Amino acid sequence: MNQTEVTLQHIRVARERIAGKVERTPTVLSQSLSDRAGHPVHLKLEHHQTTGAFKLRGASNAIAALSPEERSRGVVAASTGNHGRALAHAAKLEGMRAVICMSRLVPENKLDAIRRLGAEIRIVGNSQDDAQQQVDRLVAEEGLVMLPPFDHPDIAAGQGTLGLEILEQIPDAASVLVPLSGGGLTAGVAAAVKGVSPATKVVGVSMSRGAAMKASLDAGRPVQIEELPTLADSLGGGIGLDNRLTFAMCRELLDDVILLSEDEIAAGIRHAYEEEREIVEGAGAVGIGALLAGKVTAKGPVVAILSGRNIDMSLHRRIVCGDAALTERPT
Ligand SMILES: *Cc1c(COP(=O)(O)O)cnc(C)c1O
Repeated sequence: MNQTEVTLQHIRVARERIAGKVERTPTVLSQSLSDRAGHPVHLKLEHHQTTGAFKLRGASNAIAALSPEERSRGVVAASTGNHGRALAHAAKLEGMRAVICMSRLVPENKLDAIRRLGAEIRIVGNSQDDAQQQVDRLVAEEGLVMLPPFDHPDIAAGQGTLGLEILEQIPDAASVLVPLSGGGLTAGVAAAVKGVSPATKVVGVSMSRGAAMKASLDAGRPVQIEELPTLADSLGGGIGLDNRLTFAMCRELLDDVILLSEDEIAAGIRHAYEEEREIVEGAGAVGIGALLAGKVTAKGPVVAILSGRNIDMSLHRRIVCGDAALTERPT
């Protein structure tokens, strides 16, 4: 076995490490989705996780795995979204320095959210690449430790703790629907689920507009594709042409990948709000969207992971009101 691969054992260690630092989130039965599907559909309410997304699991585990010497140096990442929030929160809890690098184009509200969590913010350049260059500089010059959002064994193992919880809550799950971008969540959850229950299917769900992992799996190697605006903004971005971990794990462990149009993602957000009384961001709604679109072929109990809730509320309002302009872009 590839020695960089994340195993069930790593994930069990991660769970011990992050106990008390992250919430064990509930799984609830969705009556309306079960009625439609003809078998039980459960929702893993991970959007209620502290910081509003599962990313705190990976960040907490990666920070807990650092040596005392690395802790004294602090951590750094380029992220405008949920990973940045998670890292800032986890570092603060440990009394560590965290630096988050971002481009000038990042909106003020996202910047504030991370600053409020106590992280230092470095604003550089006009793109995510510029921000990453700043990260590399801080690693070289100030000795900070870089913790990337998905392609790292301790990050993926931390996300995998979600898979352990799901099978404890729903031991007879036939299929688990996982929002898929860089694949840290999918790799971790798949390793946990297949390790405990090999017959359970793990299905990734992405948006059609810029599904980098799907394109890479089809090509048989990591490929770069154009990044397009999408309602599932937390699923945007590439997997890295030098991907070391998550591509191989997704290739080995994933049973299927489902792609959704912008309309189908909006329908997922709307259903979560109106039928389940849950506010989720686009990335967190893709499992529900896939079920509503009739794209899930499972024959038994399904668990959909609601992965995050960090959506701009004026956008959320427009979506639940059915603003067609949001989804009329070609897909
Ligand atoms: C990061 C993120 C994902 C995707 O996770 P990957 O590990 O990059 O595949 C899904 N949903 C939300 C809310 C996220 O923040």
